[in-house]
Amino acid sequence: MKKRFATMWLAGCSGCHMSFLDLDEFLIELLTQVDLVFGPLVDTKEFPENVDLLLVEGAVANRDNLELLLKARERSKVLVSFGDCAVTGNVTALRNLSPDLSELYGGRTSFDPIVPPLLPRVFPLHHYVRVDHYLPGCPPDAGRIRTFLQALLEGRDPQLAAEQRSFG
Ligand code: SF4
Repeated sequence: MKKRFATMWLAGCSGCHMSFLDLDEFLIELLTQVDLVFGPLVDTKEFPENVDLLLVEGAVANRDNLELLLKARERSKVLVSFGDCAVTGNVTALRNLSPDLSELYGGRTSFDPIVPPLLPRVFPLHHYVRVDHYLPGCPPDAGRIRTFLQALLEGRDPQLAAEQRSFG
């Protein structure tokens, strides 16, 4: 039976998803093993139940990011912290504390309801939820994403496989 697969991005630049799209023909092979049930390429607004595998790009910078992450964690068996912003906060973690950003917001934390309220600090995913696997990189290159996903779908250690590829 096909696994239910989802991707999403929180506060990131979408570069990790661009790298995912660089998988090219492997995307077709991947779709023989998984059903894509949520993500930027799927017109579904509500994060679905019973997701087997979820890749999350980006850090947690605002209230909407946090609410979506908590819901997605609850509904997903395996969550992968995908890219450096998700893994460490990376450049995204430089946001929110800046007085300049506050000035841009006119001294407020949001232009609510258009922009969700900012959190006081930006944190990586594991600050809020349990993370099963980490795939660092800014962005992780397509070859490592492929090795990681293949190992995960075959029941092998995906992080070890991706690192072996990096150093092999
Ligand atoms: Fe963009 Fe790099 Fe962050 Fe990925 S890890 S969302 S490529 S800044």
